[in-house]
Amino acid sequence: MVNEKYHGLGTAPSVIRELFAYGLQQAKVVGKENVFDYSLGNPSIPAPAKVNETIKKLIDTTDSIQLHGYSMAPGFENVRQAIADNLNARFNCNAKASELFMTCGCAPALVSVAHALTTSPEDEFIAIAPFFPEYNVFFTCAGAKLAVVPADTVHFQIDMDALEKTINEHSVAVVINSPNNPSGVVYTEETLKKIAELLEKKSKEYGHPIYIVADEPYRELVYDGVKVTFIPNVYDNTIVCYSWSKSLSLPGERIGYVYVPEKCADAKAVYDTVSGAAREIGSVCPPTLTQKVIGECVGEMPDLAAYEENRNLLYNSLTEYGYECAKPDGAFYLFVKAPNGDAVAYSEKAKLDHNLLVVPGDGFACPGYFRLSYCVSNDMIKRSLPAFKAMIESYK
Ligand code: PLP
Repeated sequence: MVNEKYHGLGTAPSVIRELFAYGLQQAKVVGKENVFDYSLGNPSIPAPAKVNETIKKLIDTTDSIQLHGYSMAPGFENVRQAIADNLNARFNCNAKASELFMTCGCAPALVSVAHALTTSPEDEFIAIAPFFPEYNVFFTCAGAKLAVVPADTVHFQIDMDALEKTINEHSVAVVINSPNNPSGVVYTEETLKKIAELLEKKSKEYGHPIYIVADEPYRELVYDGVKVTFIPNVYDNTIVCYSWSKSLSLPGERIGYVYVPEKCADAKAVYDTVSGAAREIGSVCPPTLTQKVIGECVGEMPDLAAYEENRNLLYNSLTEYGYECAKPDGAFYLFVKAPNGDAVAYSEKAKLDHNLLVVPGDGFACPGYFRLSYCVSNDMIKRSLPAFKAMIESYK
């Protein structure tokens, strides 16, 4: 006997993983250079040199027992202080070490917050389509419901009327992911201020705080100098979930945090409950070595030139061929309208006819669009362009 729910999760097909596996298989048949895999969001730029230098230095200079030992539950105080100092320097937000809780990446940060805020099976978290498919798992497994605001497919900002209609007395939090996976869009400060106003009004109306859960692993991945508003600066009741998986290209190192600002409603209780929830899911004591690396490298910024070049090449070429998509200001995704509105059929045809692997938007709650992860080599993009062209022409 095994748990049916978790068995279901463990065996459910994943479109992204299947496409990736298909790509590996096809590479053996037609050659790696003839497979155009846009399925995975795995960073393709190396971590800044200082990261590896710091790892080497720490290994050479730190006592092995200490370096590989457990850390305390919330993470090392000096590391959290370095993160707080960095946030304060960039966002003037008065962050304190005591408001930060270190986690093994952004996923456990989100899951801990989901568990911490859920108090009844009627509780609802609100996601704005298109959104990261794992939200379905994170929030429903915490015992809450996931309510969905349909996508604004014109600008991929947020349909405020639809959001207002989705909020009710069971609403616990709105999950905001900007820069967004899969659209690459950055929500404007104007949009975020409107959400803050709406949530203040609704919190009063229902007599309890409605939080924003800011899911921010792509915060530093922006182009053309676009500003990513730090959401706690526009809405007090914001809980931030962050990781260095994308910003420092460290997804395998599993390091991130939850930030519960003191000004947030019930901040102490929320922080302590996040800590308790992290215990339940076993996401405890994030790696000591990696925490120490972050403590020294928190000021490092990614070199985004390669992503920017990829974005420009892909966006300019696809729109020239006649594809429609919102210009992404951040992350490393492009969310493209399928030529005849059926992204599942487009993805299948692209796969079979051209070994071109794109992810249908259905899993992101936005059918009719497909996602391209452009964290790939620029050469692969160049080689894949004839396939995109042939695909759209086949629909004319
Ligand atoms: N949130 C979003 C929007 C993501 O795209 C991802 C990973 O792709 C995560 C959270 C999880 O990040 P991590 O790998 O740090 O757990």
